[in-house]
Amino acid sequence: MKTQQLTKTRIHLCISVVNIALFILTTLFFTVLTAPAQTTEQNAYARFLNNGMEQMKAADYQGALNSFEQARRYNDSSAAAHLGLGIAYFHLRDYQHAERELNRALEINPREATANQFLGELYYRKDDLDSAASYWEKAVEFDPSASGLRTRLERIRREHKTEKDFNQDVTTHFLVKYEGREKIEAGRIVLRILEDAYSEVGHALSYYPDREMQVILYSDQQFQEVTDAPGWSGGIYDGKIRIPIGGIEQKTQGLRRILYHEYTHAVVRAITPRVPTWLNEGLAQYFEGREIDGRQKEMLRRIAQTDKLPPLSNLEGSFMGLCGDQAVFAYMLSLSSVRYMIDSFGMYRVKDILEELAAGADTGKAISNGIMLSYEEFDINWKRSLE
Ligand SMILES: [Zn+2]
Repeated sequence: MKTQQLTKTRIHLCISVVNIALFILTTLFFTVLTAPAQTTEQNAYARFLNNGMEQMKAADYQGALNSFEQARRYNDSSAAAHLGLGIAYFHLRDYQHAERELNRALEINPREATANQFLGELYYRKDDLDSAASYWEKAVEFDPSASGLRTRLERIRREHKTEKDFNQDVTTHFLVKYEGREKIEAGRIVLRILEDAYSEVGHALSYYPDREMQVILYSDQQFQEVTDAPGWSGGIYDGKIRIPIGGIEQKTQGLRRILYHEYTHAVVRAITPRVPTWLNEGLAQYFEGREIDGRQKEMLRRIAQTDKLPPLSNLEGSFMGLCGDQAVFAYMLSLSSVRYMIDSFGMYRVKDILEELAAGADTGKAISNGIMLSYEEFDINWKRSLE
């Protein structure tokens, strides 16, 4: 995996933190729905729960919220309805209401693992690592099969231990944490670059996140311990921007690239919780200022001529499972297709696509609503442009 090429093309981990709960939630609803329904009210309740679940799967969180609210009206003592409401509010970033509903679900069923999991996530986002860990411990206790959560719990403990004595510094939009007073200047450099990224990426996408964003600077070794990221990873965004910073003392082009890249992921995540990886990684590389060089262009041209380029729909899932050369290739295709999209249709259309995704459209529908071409037509046009 640790090839020379991979080292050059930094790979970034973009970890989805809440989707693991969907399975647990499905199981819970299935239990509710398979119980014999006896009255019209129970039927209506089950129907609204089911609708909410379907809407949640389609990332239509506002629709899901309305359905769960209806279900709750039929049965206010239902843990499932309050849980559904809590998760929908969470995805809509209304954390205050999310917390209220999740706590209500726990009052009804104190052993509700998913409610504990989401409350942990809420506190994690508030940077209250102690509370987050205690909710996640309960979630793992009540649902021992939640292996992904167990891994995060171990990570949060390492993170907590590592960051306990970190210093911090803030600007209007960012909070940076780092170890050792000698890193004060490094922290300031990072903040200055991120404020530039805030303006530039914000201006291009007409989007400025309304929450303070956290950035954590690690030594190379701490970065490995806390993130489990592969050795070639230049940084990650998992709700916080984490980068190994080594001994930076000045603003370098490499540092700027990493920060712009990860900040773009943060903005994309703030706009839409669901995005195909090629679009996410294409945008991140675009804003970091990465270009397809002459050698890569020639390679893409030759492969395009033989019709051997994969469809973009094959690049929607995580790139992490790809082997070294495949990953390099996937990042290159992502940048190439997204740059073509921006050059041909303008950044505001790309933003439209992100907003369509946020509203629950699948990739095909988001693209056709955004640029008036089907997914396949866009794919073909982009590949023709390479020949
Ligand atoms: Zn990335």
